Amino acid sequence: NEVLILNQEEVKEILHLEKAIELVEECYTEFNENKSVIYPAVREIVDEHEGIFGIKSSYLIGDKMIGLKAGGFWKNNMARKQKMNHQSTMVLFNAETGEPTCLLDANHITITRTAAAGAVAAKHLAKKDSQTVAIIGSGVQAKVQLSGLLHQFSIKKVYVYSRATEAAEQWVTELINQGISAENAQEAVVNADIVVTTTPSYTPIVKTSWLKQGAHVNAIGSDTKGKNEVQMDKSIDKVVCDLWEQSSIMGELQHGFAKEFLYAEIGEITGLVKKGRETDEEITMFDSTGISVQDMKVAAYVYKKAKKEGIGQIIKL
Ligand code: NAD
Repeated sequence: NEVLILNQEEVKEILHLEKAIELVEECYTEFNENKSVIYPAVREIVDEHEGIFGIKSSYLIGDKMIGLKAGGFWKNNMARKQKMNHQSTMVLFNAETGEPTCLLDANHITITRTAAAGAVAAKHLAKKDSQTVAIIGSGVQAKVQLSGLLHQFSIKKVYVYSRATEAAEQWVTELINQGISAENAQEAVVNADIVVTTTPSYTPIVKTSWLKQGAHVNAIGSDTKGKNEVQMDKSIDKVVCDLWEQSSIMGELQHGFAKEFLYAEIGEITGLVKKGRETDEEITMFDSTGISVQDMKVAAYVYKKAKKEGIGQIIKL
């Protein structure tokens, strides 16, 4: 059978953040309505090469597509081999026959669908008139998460706080050059309407007791056993995650929180089963671990568009 191969440049040409925001919102709702199935995620440590290897897979019933994303994080790639630390590839299959239909680079998909997740969560959980954002970290996710928020809110001021001070300073300068008021500041969190954590930290950097009334937190960085960016206490009025089965083992909620502490999975809110933010005072948090239907929904779109427009290379298996 024929398999379409799409490289990173081709995926980038097709997939833009605005479209990803729409698709990720849809995939959360569809999952909540049992229109898709998420299979258990696999995540293993590859000690001898200091890598983390994972597989996330799911089935989009309406699209008749099953697929997986395989890859992970090799922390020394950039320093030792000039290659990206994050590596991921997707394979899509025809759900009726099990035949593969598409092999595609998934690095841009991961970056974009994660930015979209933050934007969707903030749309439902942050105050509509949020103006001030604190970004913790200054790497890939820091930048795309801010882009996602700029699509939804009239942001007036951005605080960046990162361990890589030089990178943060450089980014602050870039933001200022783009006309955004920005500062590299430790007191970022206390001033923010929206706080976004984007580090691979294993020890908390942000305490929820620092948050101002009405703040919303997008906790993006914790997606592996042991990671922990946010020290949570009961001052949070609504804790939302993408998928309890994942958040409770690899997200912020792995650190001793029972299911009773969870207000909703995000699909219940996008699907209007539960309310998002209800008052200007409540403090809300979204714990994102990244779920397979985000990858699949976006990849299915990329595949269909590429096929229609004759993008990519076809091989016979
Ligand atoms: P990156 O390496 O590009 O950036 C990480 C940033 O965090 C850097 O600026 C670094 O200086 C900063 N940092 C690290 N430790 C810190 C600390 N203790 N205090 C302050 N700053 C610190 O990585 P990235 O691609 O932006 O990914 C960030 C995190 O998000 C990773 O943990 C990654 O696994 C996770 N991630 C989650 C999802 C999801 O779906 N939830 C998707 C993609 C990535």
